[in-house]
Order: sequence, then structure tokens, then C-alpha cells
Amino acid sequence: MVLRAPGRPLEPADLDDPAPAAGQVLVRVAACGVCRTDLHIADGELTEPKLPLVPGHQVVGTVVADGGRFAAGDRIGIAWLGEACGRCRYCRSERENLCDDPVFTGYDRDGGYAQLAVATEAFAFPLPDGLGDLRAAPLLCAGMIGHRALRMAGDAERLGLYGFGAAAHLVCQVARHQGRRVFAFTRGDDAEAQRFARELGAEWAGDSLAPPPEQLDAAIIFAPVGALVPAALRATAKGGVVVCAGIHMSDIPSFPYEALWGERSLRSVANLTRRDGEEFLALAARVPVRTSVAEYPLEEANRALDDLRAGRLRGSAVLSVA
Ligand SMILES: [Zn+2]
Ligand SMILES: [Zn+2]
Repeated sequence: MVLRAPGRPLEPADLDDPAPAAGQVLVRVAACGVCRTDLHIADGELTEPKLPLVPGHQVVGTVVADGGRFAAGDRIGIAWLGEACGRCRYCRSERENLCDDPVFTGYDRDGGYAQLAVATEAFAFPLPDGLGDLRAAPLLCAGMIGHRALRMAGDAERLGLYGFGAAAHLVCQVARHQGRRVFAFTRGDDAEAQRFARELGAEWAGDSLAPPPEQLDAAIIFAPVGALVPAALRATAKGGVVVCAGIHMSDIPSFPYEALWGERSLRSVANLTRRDGEEFLALAARVPVRTSVAEYPLEEANRALDDLRAGRLRGSAVLSVA
């Protein structure tokens, strides 16, 4: 499924098989998660994708032929950070997520909305057995970047999650496993999302623009809505942190300094490192994290994107690739 220009639906297309370069392997795709980032790319909010583009950066598949690190038949995952340069100041200081010259899967390089994809071996993840393809796919971005965001929340006991979608439904389970208390914030009228959050262990779920029953020690904002930033700061206690975990957000309205005063901090989380991914896959198996999946056939990728845009999903949309 190919994006030819932003703002247009993806189109089915017959492409040449991708050719792996040195250090890469060819992967037969089994499933690919649909991420809000894919929506920002398709809608033109992220402005520099390669075009035409095969989107998708939560790719689960099997290696087609023996490579250096993997053998034919190995099941691997391909995530958003397709490759980092290894030379820049960020790569040299364990911050490859901030690499100056990265290759992002499904943005700079064709991704997993297809039967075949290439992966740079050093940046792919071996996947544990026992986790089905569909359920593994959302771990590769929603889970891994959600995990990085949760780490940035420090040891916060009272954790707010703003936007209860693919990432929050995984983070909520990890946070509960760690003994944290979870407060879920959704659109005021979204009773179904609030029920879903309570099922996964949130002790409270309610309107994101209303105050929570008690103050938070940290908040993670997954929804791409700038107005949630002052709301989350107001809901957060002195010394607390508000983490913006999305790649794109509408403008943040101005707010009085008082909302930040008291040593509150506000930060973003960008991309992921390989270490984030490895840590999260191990943690997800221990919890164990259960992915709630809405399955779509590959050729219905546009319907999956529309459902994500409209907020009709519970958990993660995943494309199954025959
Ligand atoms: Zn770099
Ligand atoms: Zn993503």
C-alpha cells in the first residue's frame, strides 16, 4: 500500500521486491501495526517522507535468506529507528534516538504495509516465541516508545495517561505491574475508552480537561492535542513531570507561569534507542503485556487509518499480511 502524495488515500501497487544492501536482510512481512505517526505522514503533518512511500514501522516478519546476524526463518521486528549513523555526538553518547542522520522506517525507507521489507540487521529485534504476529506488532512502537516515555516519568506513583490508545493501553499494564496508580484521561464523552482503561487497571478514568480526583506525580500525553499540555501541568503536583510522547502535536496554548512553577517540568520524548526496544520486549514478556488488537487486511489500510483518525479503535490497529 503506497502513499503517493500527502492527503491522498494509500493506493495498492505492485512494486519490485526490495533489495537488501550490505548489513540488511529481506523480511517477509506477517503483520504491521498502524501508528498515529503513519497518520501524521499520510495527512502531511510530517513533511519530509520519501515519496512514493510504503508506510509502516511496527513490522513483524520472517527473514527470507541467511544474513550475518539472522538465519532464514528467524522471526524479527522492525521498528521506527531503521538505522542511526553511529558517528554523531548523539550516537556516541547512547542517544541514538536523537541521531543527526537517522533512517526512519516507513518514512525515509519503505516500511511494512507490504509483503516484503528490508531491515538493517543491527537495528532489528529478535522476537520471542509465544507472542503471535498480530499481538507483537504494536509492541514495536506503541510499546517501545511508550516505555521510553514511562521511564522519563521517573518513579512517579500517581501517573496520568492522556489519550488512551495504542501506547497508553500497553503503558498502563506496565505501570500497574510496577505498582503505580494510573489515571486515564480521554475525551469527556468517550465512555467506552474510559471503560477500557478501567479494565486494564486504571483506578480512575475521565475527561482530559477536567481535574483528576487527586494530583498526579507525572503525566504522559499521547494525544496530539496541544491544549492538553496546560491541562496536564495543572493536574500535576509540585516537582512533577509532563512528558509529551507524540511526534506531532497541535500548538500549545499559552498558560500562566504558575502552572509550571513549583519545579514542574515539561519535556518531549523522541524516537527510541535499541536499548529501549530490548528492555521493553523483555519487560513485556515478564508482565505479561496483553495487546488488544483490531485486525485489518493489508488492502484495507485506509480503513484502519480512518478508524484511528476518528478515534474508533480500542487498542491497536494491525494489518495482517497474507
Ligand atoms: Zn548518529
Ligand atoms: Zn510509531
